Amino acid sequence: MNNNIYVIYGKNAKSMTKQLLEYADVKRYIPAGSKIAIKPNLVVAKPYTSGATTNPHIVEGIIEYLKENGYDQIGILEGSWLGDSTKRAFEVCGYNDIARRYGIKLVDTKDDKPVKVKVGGYDINICSKVYEYDFLINVPLLKGHCQTQLTCALKNLKGLIPDSEKRRFHTLGLHKPIAYLNKAIKTHLVVVDSIMPDPDFEEGGNPVEKDFIALGFDPVLIDSFAAEHLGYNPYDIEYIRLAEKLGIGKAGEYNLIEINPESKPKEFSKRSSIVSRYAKYIEEKDACSVCYANLISALMRLDEQGFLKRLNKKLYIGQGYKGKSMDGIGIGSCTKDFKVCKYGCPPKSNEIVEFLKQNL
Ligand code: SF4
Repeated sequence: MNNNIYVIYGKNAKSMTKQLLEYADVKRYIPAGSKIAIKPNLVVAKPYTSGATTNPHIVEGIIEYLKENGYDQIGILEGSWLGDSTKRAFEVCGYNDIARRYGIKLVDTKDDKPVKVKVGGYDINICSKVYEYDFLINVPLLKGHCQTQLTCALKNLKGLIPDSEKRRFHTLGLHKPIAYLNKAIKTHLVVVDSIMPDPDFEEGGNPVEKDFIALGFDPVLIDSFAAEHLGYNPYDIEYIRLAEKLGIGKAGEYNLIEINPESKPKEFSKRSSIVSRYAKYIEEKDACSVCYANLISALMRLDEQGFLKRLNKKLYIGQGYKGKSMDGIGIGSCTKDFKVCKYGCPPKSNEIVEFLKQNL
């Protein structure tokens, strides 16, 4: 597999993307007449400036490049996280506008009929539309994640499974099913948005100007590069290790090609320790990302308001606590049998804040 990773630095996402695709001569890899799916990360309905979602100007750059090279059958596929509306995300994140201007089809995978795909003993429900396309361009945002440390190319495919399956992935430990999902759906090209990501939280809120876009053909290698960028050893991220084992790609040595090294920012900030600072208050077992992220955000708010120092009990969260009656404070309807529980699936951050204030 091609082990080149191409990187371009700057702020003009659309022209940078086109330069990157030209430089890597991407058209050489896409058979004529291919139906092409673009998979951005629109996990929540927040604009890219929040650090949560893929910059739409990158997707515009990809579409213009494809159209200029004769590819006209293009769709954008996404399904936001549990409890959020993809259609709202398409609107808020600027993708409805892209669809209108370029005549592109938007597919909300939450409306899609799932198909059961068997991979390595795993049955995975996958939104069927993705299989109608010949070539998948994965356009993740290089972000931190409060449970898996990193979210980039491999994890971005979670937007192609139904909500019920997203929930189930968490009961299966997240890492293994993410790796198998990438066995069931082949990514042909990855264009990584690292212009203004949040290095800590999947749902954004603390964007950092990193000012680069990366391109590669191997999602395992790209994620290994992304992990290093956030200050991790790639093999510390379990799903990278598993994906390599499954033969999806190869982590490790890559050939870095910087198109404009003279524009490289002087220093990139690595992942901060915000999440680990708050994670010590939590006992987590198979919690959905949105639930866990809402709790971390709630603890941050409590800290800002001076209430966190009064928290002297553990907080329990996740599907692993279903049916358990325990003494601590439960967060989310999965812990409804706890003596003290904040109901909701998922409970909202602001509601958790108010609930905890009353129960400290
Ligand atoms: S309560 Fe939270 S952890 Fe449980 S299913 Fe709902 S979102 Fe997931």
